[in-house]
Amino acid sequence: MNHTLLWIEGAPVYGAENNSQIEQFVDKYITCNIDHLYSKLSKVHRHYHTKSCRKRKNSHCRYNFPVPPMRATRIIEPLSLEDNVVVEKSKSLFAFLEQGEFDKLMSFDDFLTELNLSEDEYIQAIQCTLKQPTIFLKRKLSHIWNNSFSKDMLVMWKANTDVQYVLNAYAATSYCTLYMTKVDKSMTSAFRRIRKEHERSHIDAIQMIHTLGNTLLNLQQMSA
Ligand SMILES: [Zn+2]
Repeated sequence: MNHTLLWIEGAPVYGAENNSQIEQFVDKYITCNIDHLYSKLSKVHRHYHTKSCRKRKNSHCRYNFPVPPMRATRIIEPLSLEDNVVVEKSKSLFAFLEQGEFDKLMSFDDFLTELNLSEDEYIQAIQCTLKQPTIFLKRKLSHIWNNSFSKDMLVMWKANTDVQYVLNAYAATSYCTLYMTKVDKSMTSAFRRIRKEHERSHIDAIQMIHTLGNTLLNLQQMSA
């Protein structure tokens, strides 16, 4: 698995520019529409639940799949007040999406009719699941299990990518910092091996630190 930090010069900033500018910007670079991908690539962009998705039985997937369909890309803010009626509607909505027993080709309006929700009620049902402002891509019902990706990057990379616009700079920084400083099992055993080799060969401490530093850089999972 490879992780790379990429950024676009001059991207609009959430909170400084209005939401519609950000939504237009996101549509220029990111999509979840796999309709024009050849089948091998369309398969790698689908989320499949695994054991790591749920911390507790019946809790929501921590990667937030399935993602609700959306008429157009938009930023949605959390609800300020909890409302039990909305919470119940939200549970029904996500159970409906999870079960997948519906016509995946139905239009967004038919989908709302099927759920017996107005568009405002539908957005509120999504809002009550949010802890922070979140961007939802324009999404068909047939694409609720798809990662977001950049078409240009995909052509070059030819494998799964998950590209997101960052609304919360703090969360993105802590996520990246965790990866940059992550010490996995392979690194720990590599360090142990280097220390033993140096002890056997009586190489001085400075040389050993140099070797450990190089190993650390080579084994890091993230580049920028
Ligand atoms: Zn999942």
